[in-house]
Order: sequence, then structure tokens, then C-alpha cells
Amino acid sequence: MTFSLSEVTVTKIHGQKRRARAPAPHTHATPIGGNAYYSDSVPSSSQPVPDTRKRDVSLYQFFAPGGLLSRTHPAYEFRRGQLQMAQAVEQALEEKRHLIVEAGTGTGKTLAYLVPVIRSGKRVIISTGTKNLQEQLFLKDIPFLEQALFPGGEGKLKACYMKGRNNYLCRKKLYDLTDQPVLSGLEEIEHYRAIAAWEKVTNTGDRSELASLPEASALWHKIDARADTCLGQKCSAWDRCFITEMHRKAMESDIIIVNHHLFFADLSIKQQAEYAPDAGILPEAGAVIFDEAHELEDIAGSYFGVSVSNGRFEELCRDVEVSLQRNHMLSASLSGALKSVRERAMFFFALLPTGDGRFAFETRREFMEENGDEFLGLQQALTRLGSELENLSSKPEEVFNFARRAQELQVQLGFLMESEDRNTVFWIERRRGGRDKQNVFLQATPIDVAPILKACLFDKLECAVLTSATLAVGGSFEYMRRRLGLDYARESVLPSHFDYESQALFYAPPDLPDPRTPQFAAQAADRIRRLLEITRGRAFVLFTSYAQMNDVYTRLLGVLDFPMLLQGDAPKTALLEEFRLTPNAVLFATSSFWQGVDVQGEQLSCVIIDRLPFAVPSDPVVAARVKSIDADGGNAFFQYQVPAAVITLKQGFGRLIRSLHDRGLLVLLDNRILKKQYGKVFVESLPPYRRTTDLKQVEEFFGVE
Ligand code: SF4
Repeated sequence: MTFSLSEVTVTKIHGQKRRARAPAPHTHATPIGGNAYYSDSVPSSSQPVPDTRKRDVSLYQFFAPGGLLSRTHPAYEFRRGQLQMAQAVEQALEEKRHLIVEAGTGTGKTLAYLVPVIRSGKRVIISTGTKNLQEQLFLKDIPFLEQALFPGGEGKLKACYMKGRNNYLCRKKLYDLTDQPVLSGLEEIEHYRAIAAWEKVTNTGDRSELASLPEASALWHKIDARADTCLGQKCSAWDRCFITEMHRKAMESDIIIVNHHLFFADLSIKQQAEYAPDAGILPEAGAVIFDEAHELEDIAGSYFGVSVSNGRFEELCRDVEVSLQRNHMLSASLSGALKSVRERAMFFFALLPTGDGRFAFETRREFMEENGDEFLGLQQALTRLGSELENLSSKPEEVFNFARRAQELQVQLGFLMESEDRNTVFWIERRRGGRDKQNVFLQATPIDVAPILKACLFDKLECAVLTSATLAVGGSFEYMRRRLGLDYARESVLPSHFDYESQALFYAPPDLPDPRTPQFAAQAADRIRRLLEITRGRAFVLFTSYAQMNDVYTRLLGVLDFPMLLQGDAPKTALLEEFRLTPNAVLFATSSFWQGVDVQGEQLSCVIIDRLPFAVPSDPVVAARVKSIDADGGNAFFQYQVPAAVITLKQGFGRLIRSLHDRGLLVLLDNRILKKQYGKVFVESLPPYRRTTDLKQVEEFFGVE
């Protein structure tokens, strides 16, 4: 008798979530001869399986040569790291421990965690950084496993894929709009008609089904299911609500796929409503797997912070006005209250310090001394609006929601202007909106999210698995664990599936000037030209700033013999598609192309990076973190800036080798990696590429005479 994974899973799917039967001694799969990977990880077939290995045998039988995966997956290869990761995840799930595991490209990590998740019988949330990975899990990996485990269709994996609330239609808002359409322009009317027709047939309310709706549709923003405008159970459309339905599906699912934004939005709602057990839309889970976990700090920081913009005041006033007009309740005094909020908000935001992009708001105290009356005026206008709304008799349910939003704005504005919290950095961001409008955001971000995540995530969860291709720095997880507050966790850096030494050559030119000097751009452009002649284009040239990208691009325009693509000339997906289809193309891009981009094959044979990707030191959040670490007696450069840049560099270089058959050149034009003491940390953290400082070796690598 053999013991197969499908037996375990069928047992679980039929609701008896008991532990799998152990295989009888002497009965595990016969080892497959001639495979070098095999011999050291499985006992001989003539030996009884020791107790401690019983669980592993089943995972082994799934992932090993001759196992279920090899028989069902068209592109099967045995990957030692994949099996090790599956074993580590299973152990973490069983022992209720946290695990942090670095698994490089090619490990096949999604199956390595999905299989133990299915075997565990627990409800597990899988949170990812990108939509691509969510779609891979839901549309490819889970159907594949279902087919592999239940080839006769006798079972089903219970999984669901949840997106952020603003991806779904709010039926209530659409119906309200139908009663009293407030649409601007022909385009909006057309979109409205398409959405109204689609609402009658869709089962999900997910806007991705509406391919014709532009990404930046202003109408969608008015009718999406965002939480701040939701009436919850008091809504007249509650029973048919897509969010209610999504929540119900999640409650019935064993695997719930979300992105980090949804996960942390939900966690922060739950944290704020500690005594409301139903707060949030994600159900309780036995474990959470964070894939692409290198993004957690930044995303968590944004959800545990506070943000108030001039747009939020305008949106509240507009929503109140539309609703009260529809309900014939817009009195003169309410109109006056709305007018006052609008005027006061406009005045207050106009007084804020000027500046471009993101900058620290270090003069809050002085600002309040000078403009305290305007701040109080805005607060009072909100109080007045709140009371006017509360005093309305026989008011519809949404009016309570408006009063709550007015109060929330008041509290948050108070925190932003008056809080002395030492673990918070206060800053301003100006973004250009449509039609010459400027959106101004007052922001408060935790300087250190570690204590928050420790208290409300890692101390409460039984098991968290953090994985990514880039988590370790110099082979250690200390940086990541410290930044995230993950005090106790098993750790694993998995062996790579790729032979980096023969697949990739890493070239750093020793003779270029320091990238911080004005001479750098011209000489870097010249070296890029020479390198692209050797590689015959087929390259990504990645920059740490738009200014440097545009400068080098302009210098090479008309000089290079290859098609040149520039970030910003078309949407990202269109540019990538063009790159894939254009022989010898060269793409010039910045940070958004450093991760989540996958171009396999010869078309991408070279990745050039202009400089070590240190975060911009003047960024208010980065600057506050640096200051805080130094003030606590640490060394921010070595404890924060270098490790963060190492992770980013690994991400950028990770674009090149995406399969066993890829081969190519990696270039870092910043030779501080060779000359500075800290350069070693970068070198030791990168995969074992063959390294050179000699252009001749680059030519030899590409067979150029
Ligand atoms: S419950 Fe909330 S999201 Fe759902 S239809 Fe009602 S208001 Fe919209």
C-alpha cells in the first residue's frame, strides 16, 4: 500500500479534518534510481520510515521525481529547495510557529506552501504583494492542484480571491445614482450605462470584468464599495451586496488569497475596533502566509498611519449634498454648514507649507501658533456639520455615516496637527490632480512599525510564514525581523534552483567616477552604449531616479542602434509587451520595473543598474527612521540604509535570470560596491554570480571577438 497526498486531501475536503494516517513501515515509494538529489533525502526502501520523517514522506512523494507533481505538471523539475520549503512550512503550521524563508526565483515556492496549507486542514490567508501573483495562485496553481489531487473531479479546494473593496461595485450607490443621476459628460453617461447593464449579470461585482472601463474612471470612484461610505448591515442592499458575498465566500473557504494592502487595511480596522469582533472582512485564520514579504514594512506603515487630504473634505461635502438633495432634506442651515466646511478646508490647506512631492512637516508647532484660529475654524465647521446632520429628523441611514465621517476627520486632523507621538513622523505630500487641481495630503506614519506588528499580528497569530526571493542580507534575517517586530521565527535560506555561476556574469566597472559626481552621467552613458553593443541591446537599464533616467536616455538617443523604450511613454504592461515583441529592444526605467517584472528568454539578456539603490535620504519617512535609529544609539547606515538597499538591489538584479535556461549580464555602474567597506555587504548578499571588473570578460561571455 502506498500513502499518497490525495488521500489526505480528500479526507480534509470531506470535512473530517483529522490528521493523515501515517504510512506503514516499509511501504513508502520506491526510490527512483539514478537521481543525485534523491539519495540523501529519503531513507532506503528496505528501512522503516522513522517516526519523525513520516510527514515528510508524503510531501516527498508529492514533490520528488516519480511523485504526483512529476506525473501531473508539464514542466516538472525536481527542486530540492521546493521540497525543503514545503517541509519547513508544514512544520511551522503544525508546531504553530512563525517561519521566515528566502526562496529564490525558480524555487516554485507557491506550490511549496500551498501543498502543506491544504494538508494542514487550517483556514489560511495568503497575502501577496502583486496582482500577478494573486492571479497565478488563484487561476493557475489552485486549479492545477485541484486537478492533480482530484483527477476524477471528486473533490474541490475551497479557495477565494479577495481584492480591496474599491475593486467592487457598491449596489446601493449605483441604485442611488439611478434614481438621481449626477453624471458629468458623455463619457460618464456611457460608462454608467455599461455598469448598470453589467450589474444585472455579474456574480462578483469585480470591476476587472469590465474591460472597457478605463483604470482612472471618475465614475467608478463614485460607486465603488469603499469602507468609509458603507452602511454595513443597515444598508438596503446588504443581502445582495458584493462585499457581503465576498465575506461569505471567505468564511466558507480554506484558502483566502488577498494582497498586502487588503490584509493590513483589515488588520488596522480590527485594531481600531478591538471590541467589535465582526470588524473587518477577513475571517479568523489559523495561519497567514506573506509572499513577497519584503514589502511588508512600507505597506503596513501606510495602514497604521493617518492621512487627511483636501480631497476628503470635498468628497464628504459632495456626498452629503447629493444624498440630502435626493432625499429633499437640504435645508438652508445645512447648505450653510457645508459651505463653511468647504471654505474653511480650502483656506486651511492653502496655509500649509509649500513644497513639492513629499516633505517633512517639522514646523507644526510654529504653524499652529500662527494659524491656530484657522485650524479651530475648520474643526468647528466640522462640529457644526456633524450636529446639523445628527439633528435631522427621520434621516436615512447614510446620514449617520456622514456624521461619523465628519467626526473622524475632526479626530484625525487633531492628531495630525497636535499629536506629540514620538513614534510618528508628520509630513505633507502634494500630488497633482486632474484639471489643474492639487491634492494635498497631511500624513502621519509610524517611524517603527515593529512594535505595532508585534502586538497586533505576530503575538496574536499562531503561525505566520514570511517568504520572498529577497529577505536575507548577508545570509541573515536580522534586518527583516527587527524592522517587522518578528522576534521569534524559524529561519531558512533555501538553495537556489539556478546555477548562477554559469548563468550570469556580474560586471562592475572600476574606472567610472562616483555616481554622486557631475561627471558620472556622461561616462555612464558611454559605458552603457558599449555594453549594449556587446549584448546587442536586449536589456533593461534601471535607474534610481527619473532625472538620471531622462539624462542618460537623452544622451543615448540617436546614438544607439537599438529600439529604445522609455518608462512613461506608455503604460507599464504595454511597454513590457513591446519590449518582449521588439527584437534587441532596450528599456529605460525606474523603480516600478525593479520588481514584479518577468521576461524570460534571450530577449532580456542584460540588466544594468546605475547606482546602489539607497532610499532617498530626504524622504520624510526614511529621514525619520534614520534619525530615530541613530538617536537610540544604533547606526542607521548599517542597520537600515545598507540592508534596505541590498534588498532592493537583489530585486532589481532578480529580473535577469527567470528560468534554468536564462543567461546574461548584470551590471552595476556604481563602483562603491568595490571601493567602500559596506560594498562587501552587497556582494555577499547577491547570489553567487560569476564576477568581473574587466570588459573583455564581458565580451567573451557574449562570444564577441
Ligand atoms: S453594504 Fe455597503 S458596500 Fe454593500 S451595497 Fe450597501 S453600502 Fe454598498
